[in-house]
Amino acid sequence: MRKRPLILISNDDGIDAPGIYALVNEIKKIGEVFVAAPDKQQSAVGHAITMNYPLRAQKFYKNGKFFGYAIDGTPADAVKLAVGSLLKQKPDLLISGINHGANTAVSIIYSGTVSAATEGTFLGIPSIAVSLTTYGKPDFRYAAKFTKKLAQTVLKKGIPAGTLLNVNVPPIPEKEIKGVKITRQSKAKWNDWFETRKDPNNKEYYWLTGRLVDEEKSDDTDLWAVEHNYVSITPIQYDLTDYKLLGVLKKWKLDY
Ligand code: MN
Repeated sequence: MRKRPLILISNDDGIDAPGIYALVNEIKKIGEVFVAAPDKQQSAVGHAITMNYPLRAQKFYKNGKFFGYAIDGTPADAVKLAVGSLLKQKPDLLISGINHGANTAVSIIYSGTVSAATEGTFLGIPSIAVSLTTYGKPDFRYAAKFTKKLAQTVLKKGIPAGTLLNVNVPPIPEKEIKGVKITRQSKAKWNDWFETRKDPNNKEYYWLTGRLVDEEKSDDTDLWAVEHNYVSITPIQYDLTDYKLLGVLKKWKLDY
């Protein structure tokens, strides 16, 4: 590894979001930061990539200083393009975030934040996704400081191939944080519905809303941890194979 590690930062809230700005300001204390992120809000786009249109990377300035590349695509596009074309060397670490909103339970599947980190994992880069679990007014300071320390540990220890770390930080002052829990993904489900409204032309439109319902109430999940003022770290994998069912299916005699 170089003396100062190269750290790629992306997100799904867009390059101008306050969460990525807070993260960059902390992470640049420990490494060379390269930012490549979507040019607009891309939350809940999952792992979509752009195949039928060209992608453009525009230099993006914040407070008069070069901040990074704004990509007119998805979070996965931003990471692919950064590693494949914009960067000369492979990053030592990728961090996606800090997302404004939780990425616990099944939300991990919808999440653009997690998908940016998953793309890093595909490319063989140790990757971390970080989210602040509030939809209210965010204060990213503690989450950013925590991520800096976690990044230093991951740079030292690495993460096994195929796995990334999904971090959720509760939106409370540092002194109220009880500690860190290593958790599993909660089985909580979205109880969601479409609110139906009318546009100015009296045509109906639909807007998805809902809440996460946790029926397991188990104390080892990501959701439990953040609801009880702990930082949650869940190791997650992109291999979706159900290994238990492999043997069962083989016995089904499907050679029709
Ligand atoms: Mn988001």
